[in-house]
Amino acid sequence: MCGIFGIYNHPEASNHTYLGLYALQHRGQESAGIASADGKQLHHYRQMGHVSEVFTRDLLKKLAGKSAIGHVRYSTAGSSELKNAQPFMVDYSKGSLAIAHNGNLTNAFLIQSELEADGSIFQSNMDTEVIVHLIARSREKTLVERTIQALKKVEGAYSLLFLTEKEMIAVRDPYGFRPLVLGQLKEAPVIASESCALDLIGAQFIREVEPGELLLFDKEGVASYKPFPQKPLSQCVFEFIYFARPDSFIFNRNVYEVRKSLGIQLAKESPAAVEMVVPIPDSGFPATIGYASEAKIPLEMGMIRNHYVGRTFIEPEQSIRHFGVKIKLNPVKGLMEGKRIVIVDDSIVRGTTSRKIVKMFRGAGAKEVHVRISSPPITYPCFFGIDTPKRSELIASSHSVKETQKYITANSLSYLSIEGLRKCVKKEAENFCYACFTGDYSVPFPPEVCSE
Ligand code: AMP
Repeated sequence: MCGIFGIYNHPEASNHTYLGLYALQHRGQESAGIASADGKQLHHYRQMGHVSEVFTRDLLKKLAGKSAIGHVRYSTAGSSELKNAQPFMVDYSKGSLAIAHNGNLTNAFLIQSELEADGSIFQSNMDTEVIVHLIARSREKTLVERTIQALKKVEGAYSLLFLTEKEMIAVRDPYGFRPLVLGQLKEAPVIASESCALDLIGAQFIREVEPGELLLFDKEGVASYKPFPQKPLSQCVFEFIYFARPDSFIFNRNVYEVRKSLGIQLAKESPAAVEMVVPIPDSGFPATIGYASEAKIPLEMGMIRNHYVGRTFIEPEQSIRHFGVKIKLNPVKGLMEGKRIVIVDDSIVRGTTSRKIVKMFRGAGAKEVHVRISSPPITYPCFFGIDTPKRSELIASSHSVKETQKYITANSLSYLSIEGLRKCVKKEAENFCYACFTGDYSVPFPPEVCSE
């Protein structure tokens, strides 16, 4: 769960990267960073916090040069601390190199152990750093050759950006787990995790970086390479369900359109005899619109989200311990008094949010609260970059639908079926990874990766 952005050969590279990261903030809120290149050297700044907190006008001025890459981080490998913030930058025998990574490598710690046994010293505990070490140790002549040699050794999910003094490289792993799009701002190529970042800076969408494709940007222009053995496509379906922004175009589809169709399908599979449909903001909105239109039940904004909640610094006392969800969400009192309602959300992970929300609606007077979820039950953790916790914390891995319904105190609970989900991603259904619902992982990984 990270976002990456890069722009090559534009006079306002850092400013645009800063804006691009703003558009990708939903992909990671722990840290943000930018590395820029002025043709002779790299400049670099990263810090814990949101994009708006991390950068100032003066800092952006110091990130000089016509090319830049940026990163927003949500840790799925490595702890949440500054040494793990990205872009990660090193100086090695061939110059300087910055890297920004979205995804999760499944064999990183095996490679790290080998490299450490051979004398390498790691600065962070991120999987991404192994790529840097492999590139630095490569004897190949060009950056592209060194990068290809390094990436042939790693397994798992990666959408990557590299920046040197004079070049930028974008790569998407052969399975295509994470999205990566190519755009253009005047003459300058732009790379972003999602197309919403192109929209913000006024760049034109060109196409997606293809799975297994490496793009080199240098003074000659753009060169495309396909150096990796082809793999079965395994694009993350959870990007459609929850993670990507609904105004983005990724995996050849508009995210909003897919999310709405999930709601339509859910209404077909699991109708509810109620008077009102209520979305759980914000991620539940598009599916709820689909659900309400298919079920022909009025949709009401019965839950309001406070958008100004950052991190909370109060260590809650027992008496205010459960303010976590309430600080973000509050039901509209009076609206649902004595009514039967159905609430639609995109997913249940641990079940704590749904439980609290159902209670809040009951407190607001709802007579019956039915819950519909626009994804199948999440029963397995993700090892490819989505932060789903270990199996034991996933409520659906140990509770039947009926048991979960009881836990969240709903009058009824239904999830979208896996067949329904596949139907909504249409003819490309076989090109997606559903491992969080099925446990069917397309990349084998050593058991050490999977801590129960
Ligand atoms: P939980 O309380 O653990 O069941 O969380 C469910 C809520 O978290 C849903 O409203 C989702 O929109 C949201 N959600 C789903 N997946 C994730 C994730 N990987 N990280 C953060 N939030 C998530």
